[in-house]
Amino acid sequence: MNTYKLLTPGPLTTTETVKEAMLTDHCTWDNDYKMITQNIRKRLIDLANAAEENYTAVLLQGSGTYGVESVLTSSVGDGVVLLITNGAYGKRMVQICDYAKISYLEYNVGFAELPDADYVEQLLRSHEEITHIAMVHCETTSGILNDIESIARVAKAHNKTFIVDAMSSFGGIEIPVEALGIDFIISSANKCIQGVPGFTFIIAKRDALAQTKGNCRSLSLDLYAQFEEMEKDGKWRFTSPTHTVLAFAKALDELEAEGGVKARQKRYTENNRTLIANMRALGFKTYVAEENQSPIITSFLYPENQNFNFGEMYEYIKERGYAIYPGKVTDMDTFRIGNIGEIYAEDIEKITEIFRSFLEVKNIRGDEK
Ligand SMILES: *Cc1c(COP(=O)(O)O)cnc(C)c1O
Repeated sequence: MNTYKLLTPGPLTTTETVKEAMLTDHCTWDNDYKMITQNIRKRLIDLANAAEENYTAVLLQGSGTYGVESVLTSSVGDGVVLLITNGAYGKRMVQICDYAKISYLEYNVGFAELPDADYVEQLLRSHEEITHIAMVHCETTSGILNDIESIARVAKAHNKTFIVDAMSSFGGIEIPVEALGIDFIISSANKCIQGVPGFTFIIAKRDALAQTKGNCRSLSLDLYAQFEEMEKDGKWRFTSPTHTVLAFAKALDELEAEGGVKARQKRYTENNRTLIANMRALGFKTYVAEENQSPIITSFLYPENQNFNFGEMYEYIKERGYAIYPGKVTDMDTFRIGNIGEIYAEDIEKITEIFRSFLEVKNIRGDEK
């Protein structure tokens, strides 16, 4: 099989040792296994910079979207949620609310724009019916890093429940969850913790979670029911993704060995900034303004050249050992390069060389008209 490293936003490239952790079959109600789950929950609260008496972690089967859907359908109830959107994952929250018939108000800004906290405050004043605010931290669509701090401040000043989709940032960017007063923050196994796909996790403020009891109209996505069962002794309500859980426990060990979130954030940031500098030197332009660019994933504009073809470039790069990602913003032609996962400075140098040789072979520069 042709293997390549993933320069994508997850699933991402994991270590051999994380993959090897999956070579054991585990019984789901066995005590050792339940302890692994409990240990993961504890460590996630630590990573969130929160205290166990105020916060808890719930693991839920499925991909990240299941976690977001679980939180929205379990917590909003008869309230109204303000959805702050600037990309596909914000839009997915809109879709979730449409499906579940949850009342919402949408504050949508452009893909390359940051939401404005003052405007959010105005909305809260003019729409007293709003009970919850939900937004995405790193919008993986463009690679923009939203300012959750300013919105958290407004949310807390107005006593609103604050929900953050931190799928592509949690574990890769320090988030002071308790200090910000975030009520629910969601991520998944296959992003910055560097595990494999199979479950999502929700770090919830205990009192906000307690209020979700009996709200959810989906059995499998009922956050409180999942919490209640897991809180007893670490047993998952329905069949748990045992192999994924073992890999995740290993991935947490490796995150700690790397020096924790701070060290990982440093590696991601350095690699991201080097990648952008190298790509600019080749003539490529970035989609998101530098000050708003996340250290997770970057959108680059297509060169305006007749000879450029994304599919061709993708294959060229894949043959040389890396997979990049198509663009997702709809107002411009872009492609994306993720730099989360087991990606190091030498990978950034290699990928730069591959881009350089591709442009040379095709006789184009990134920015050529
Ligand atoms: C990956 C991701 C999700 C979840 O996507 P799934 O395909 O359901 O795992 C949600 N939000 C953001 C910001 C993401 O990057």
